[in-house]
Amino acid sequence: MLPEAGSLWLLKLLRDIQLAQFYWPILEELNVTRPEHFDFVKPEDLDGIGMGRPAQRRLSEALKRLRSGPKSKNWVYKILGGFAPEHKEPTLPSDSPRHLPEPEGGLKCLIPEGAVCRGELLGSGCFGVVHRGLWTLPSGKSVPVAVKSLRVGPEGPMGTELGDFLREVSVMMNLEHPHVLRLHGLVLGQPLQMVMELAPLGSLHARLTAPAPTPPLLVALLCLFLRQLAGAMAYLGARGLVHRDLATRNLLLASPRTIKVADFGLVRPLGGARGRYVMGGPRPIPYAWCAPESLRHGAFSSASDVWMFGVTLWEMFSGGEEPWAGVPPYLILQRLEDRARLPRPPLCSRALYSLALRCWAPHPADRPSFSHLEGLLQEAGPSEACCVRDVTEPGALRMETGDPITVIEGSPDSTIWKGQNGRTFKVGSFPASAVTLADAGGLPATRPVHRGTPARGDQHPGSIDGKKANLWDAPPARGQRRNMPLERMKGISRSLESVLSLGPRPTGGGSSPPEIRQARAVPQGPPGLPPRPPLSSSSPQPSQPSRERLPWPKRKPPHNHPMGMPGARKAAALSGGLLSDPELQRKIMEMELSVHGVTHQECQTALGATGGDVVSAIRNLKVDQLFHLSSRSRADCWRILEHYQWDLSAASRYVLARP
Ligand code: AMP
Repeated sequence: MLPEAGSLWLLKLLRDIQLAQFYWPILEELNVTRPEHFDFVKPEDLDGIGMGRPAQRRLSEALKRLRSGPKSKNWVYKILGGFAPEHKEPTLPSDSPRHLPEPEGGLKCLIPEGAVCRGELLGSGCFGVVHRGLWTLPSGKSVPVAVKSLRVGPEGPMGTELGDFLREVSVMMNLEHPHVLRLHGLVLGQPLQMVMELAPLGSLHARLTAPAPTPPLLVALLCLFLRQLAGAMAYLGARGLVHRDLATRNLLLASPRTIKVADFGLVRPLGGARGRYVMGGPRPIPYAWCAPESLRHGAFSSASDVWMFGVTLWEMFSGGEEPWAGVPPYLILQRLEDRARLPRPPLCSRALYSLALRCWAPHPADRPSFSHLEGLLQEAGPSEACCVRDVTEPGALRMETGDPITVIEGSPDSTIWKGQNGRTFKVGSFPASAVTLADAGGLPATRPVHRGTPARGDQHPGSIDGKKANLWDAPPARGQRRNMPLERMKGISRSLESVLSLGPRPTGGGSSPPEIRQARAVPQGPPGLPPRPPLSSSSPQPSQPSRERLPWPKRKPPHNHPMGMPGARKAAALSGGLLSDPELQRKIMEMELSVHGVTHQECQTALGATGGDVVSAIRNLKVDQLFHLSSRSRADCWRILEHYQWDLSAASRYVLARP
């Protein structure tokens, strides 16, 4: 029998003092499952299990150390204690299940190191690498698994990485849902390893951005994934957990039609009557996916997960594009508070987009819950139809009799509908009379297809009849698809750290913190940066605050700048061949290390403005950061930084203390 996860502390304790042979007797004969239980164990009891007096003294010493030692250093304690505290509001009794049904393959348990062999690398995350592996059960049966190993530096694992790793273990240990990635167990080896269910098809983001000849994902399948996701999130919410990192990169494909929510490193328990979790310090979080209250106050709740669900929906229908690509992180919150929203992707129906907009309601209480979303998704989902005659009209979606058609947009009073041909994957408009709805018993398609309300902020507010029938909105050519590594996430995340680490946060009153106040006076970005992506606004009259142009360093116009590409692609294209220049890469890395929270692209722009002089570029970026943080002029910022010998933290503390 394998040790149970709940008594890992005991095994570790006994191993440390070479008394592991007493693990089972202590657990089973003395019924010790928690350190406090030893208070009731007498020397005679230990004699009774064959433990000699010197060994008893060692145990007693080890117990003293366990109890007096700092919990944060004792990783087993952390597993047992659940979540390491950052800042939790007072907790209500949790309804998380204590006892789980025993899954096939044994309990969620400690797995002996030798029982798992690692194979090919599947990916790497914030605090570890993930390999494909094979787990040999005590019965001899082998199970394909994924093994996540904690990254270990020369001096052991980093505190936060270890904490997140253990938090992920402690969360996953208690979860059992068809759309939540399963944890099989933990290997107490060097490094620590999590043994998880294998999702053989990788991440949804990788699938969405896979180049040709991989076909795009069908709209009907994306809608199925959304329903699966809403179900899994409702399950997490019911267990009082907030995921905080919902995005297509964290959805794994267990089969072509099954997604699983993964990556629980940022999961936290919801505390207090308000059912939210407030970050206690600077930690990286995915800026472009976050709700405004998370960005402004570090507050997370099921409602902020719902916001992220909306962004994930947007990613899915945008072919894995990066949300808010090209918008500097410090401007995202401002845009959101100005009611700007991500635009409707062409493949997304108005009904679904309307749902996304509800997820992006400014006030968390106005967003639907996940369980409500499950029903809403059912209603807003596309209808399935079957082609009843060949369509060959020029400009129309080509279809042959018998083709399965997903109706993306259609209404009873329009004669032209929009849909996707399940055989060819093409999207376009077609005569409504060419299909019968699958659930209409073979009747011609003349009834309403969607019951959802039209989306506010829709880029194409008219009915599709108002548009010329052609092959618009076809998915991008496969060759155009690009696997975007989300490199920018790093910068984005670090920027939030900056926001949270630099000085006090505002308390109520709706006033903006200094960095945001200043961001309002900032232009769209330095000349030469890619323009903002098209935005839609959920307010009746989009309000773009007036922005005075700042003396942002000038940058030479890029050569070979391809026109008409979305922001992130432009960002990559801007660098042209330069990105492969190792010298440039080295300089950018130096700048990223020197200027906290700066993005790759900002470094490039700053370097361009100084003719490649890295010292001046770093200084300019620091001046920029201080300028955005305070109400002082750039010249003042320069002087303050000079005074502090270009130590941005010291200069920031100075300006924040004297607003
Ligand atoms: P993570 O550290 O959880 O962000 O994982 C990093 C990457 O490893 C993911 O983006 C996936 O590509 C891959 N990965 C993680 N877990 C699994 C799994 N259970 N099955 C297959 N691939 C995985």
